[in-house]
Amino acid sequence: MIHELARQVRRDTIRMIVNAGSGHVGGALGVADILTVLYEDILHYRPDEPDWQDRDRLVLSNGHICAAWYSILARTGHFPIDELATHRRFGSRLQGHPARAKLGKLVETSSGPLGQGLSVANGLALSMRADARSARVFCILGDGELAEGQVWEAAMTAGHYRLSNAVAIILANGLQIDGTTEAVKRQEPIDRRFAAFGWETTVVDGHNPDELQSALATVPSGSAPRAVVARVKMAAGVSAWEDQAKWHGTTPDRDAALQALEEIGLADGYDDFPIEGTAGGVL
Ligand SMILES: [Mg+2]
Repeated sequence: MIHELARQVRRDTIRMIVNAGSGHVGGALGVADILTVLYEDILHYRPDEPDWQDRDRLVLSNGHICAAWYSILARTGHFPIDELATHRRFGSRLQGHPARAKLGKLVETSSGPLGQGLSVANGLALSMRADARSARVFCILGDGELAEGQVWEAAMTAGHYRLSNAVAIILANGLQIDGTTEAVKRQEPIDRRFAAFGWETTVVDGHNPDELQSALATVPSGSAPRAVVARVKMAAGVSAWEDQAKWHGTTPDRDAALQALEEIGLADGYDDFPIEGTAGGVL
């Protein structure tokens, strides 16, 4: 079940980005398994009651990978699936970075400017603690994003306040827009750095549902925030694109997209939402 949904998210992501003629396919494909585990097994939410006070909160700090998030929100009943066809269109709710002004209660916050999400997550976690609510706050960050100083201010804050209801999920693919994180600005060892700021840390294979489920379901026994360093591949699931920085923001052409969809599967009889964009015709 989980694998099927993750494949569906990958398929939606490619079709949405090719349809729009722009987007960030690499990170979106890389986060598909994590989002699937979160929405299938971990998060408490009510699609029909988006402002339910006891919902778990999710902040997508690296908002540019939102195609996958829009897909899973649609696939879990938050809005009609055919709305995915409007991704990045003028006037659509589904902009290239999540915009609360457009999405309203579907998201906790706008995101896109890198480095800010963990600070927002801290505020949410502090407020839920103040209200004595048991909901948790999850924040997804890219590893390139860790070069932003604000992330470490937020890491310090969460450690200081012992925010055991906060979980940071770091997508450690070792790449960012200009190349490897090792070459641009070294981020390793990510787990030890978070640990130094007072976090309980674990490192998992970000494409292994069992490891993800175990890591994300664990509520810290003590009083520390939890950092899950998820080793992922950029563009995971499409072998011709994996582990290449160029797929951070490159839009595949139609032939490359068709090859990718064939590899992912479910290529036949898939018409959940129409494709009428720049790529032309139905993918
Ligand atoms: Mg990265």
